[in-house]
Amino acid sequence: MNQVKYRLAKLVASAQRTKPNYQIHRRVLMYHSISNHKQSGKDTYTLSQQYFAQHVELLHQLHKTENSKIVKLDSVDSSGITITFDDGYRDTLTIAAQILSEKSLPFTVFVSSANITSGDSKFLSRQELIELSKTSGVTIGSHGHAHTHLGELSPSEVFSDLQHSKDWLEQVIQLPVTTLSYPHGSYNSEVLRIAAEIGFEYAATSKWGVYEFGTQKLEIPRIDIWSNDDRRGLEQKLSGKWDWLKRFI
Ligand SMILES: [Zn+2]
Repeated sequence: MNQVKYRLAKLVASAQRTKPNYQIHRRVLMYHSISNHKQSGKDTYTLSQQYFAQHVELLHQLHKTENSKIVKLDSVDSSGITITFDDGYRDTLTIAAQILSEKSLPFTVFVSSANITSGDSKFLSRQELIELSKTSGVTIGSHGHAHTHLGELSPSEVFSDLQHSKDWLEQVIQLPVTTLSYPHGSYNSEVLRIAAEIGFEYAATSKWGVYEFGTQKLEIPRIDIWSNDDRRGLEQKLSGKWDWLKRFI
């Protein structure tokens, strides 16, 4: 989403007359990279540390209210908010985890194992992944091995990618890995079947929407967070003012 589209969408969102209703469903937030630059950059999926800190302040306040508690992805609560990060960026450990841990808020990090072994310094190293997994409140999930469009692979390729990522992560962090997010949001009915067979219990998509009664545990929609989302932006997204986007994303 470019700046012009974002501004137009924000106008539409601001005009929505929706009151927050945390009792009836859960919202799962999808973050990517958090940058220590003051201003958010041009990359839609990199949020500034300044905005992220504002988000955590808001989430911490909401956490004190019964129906908007911050809960883990595998929580059986029908209401609340869940925080997730995709890809396994190094800044998930060095920036996000520190800010979230100070407020004791739980979160899930979906890691692509090939990102970790790539040696690219923007991603967690093996040792940093182990450190992150020991941070209180963290759940490490899989984001596939090769960060590929699973919906475009043959069943045997899907099986091998997902099984490898699960085995590798479990061996490194010495904990069971039962949650997954689909790279690029790409999946189909075969991917769902294979994910279940391998032992994934909860999986997050990149479709816009709320997690409500009847949502399949392997098809949990999320709320996308973008670089322009300041505190007010997050408030709007949590209160449903951007839900019209689910027709498009
Ligand atoms: Zn990804």
